Amino acid sequence: MHEASIALSVLNTLTEECLKRGFSAIESVRLRIGKASGVLPDALIFAFDIAKADSIAREATLHIDLIPLGGRCHACGAVFEVEERFLITCPQCQGSDFTINQGFEMNIVDMEVH
Ligand SMILES: [Zn+2]
Repeated sequence: MHEASIALSVLNTLTEECLKRGFSAIESVRLRIGKASGVLPDALIFAFDIAKADSIAREATLHIDLIPLGGRCHACGAVFEVEERFLITCPQCQGSDFTINQGFEMNIVDMEVH
């Protein structure tokens, strides 16, 4: 399961960061996840809740900010965000000369520790 390995890698990063900074527990974690990243937020939260049991993050709550797919069209200059997970043409001019610059991310934004 894809989300299980992501949950573990998030946990590893958090644990490392937490110990490096001298904290002993994590209260909450916020992730930015692109809608086009293929990660299912519910599955990730579920996997995280299982994986965190024996870790420094066992009390931690996982928050997920979903980032829509978005980009800029080189033909008409439109800057867009769409609800779709895939984009074949520019939503404004239907052209195919555009750059996607958001929607694929998987970042830890911040965490609360103590
Ligand atoms: Zn366009």
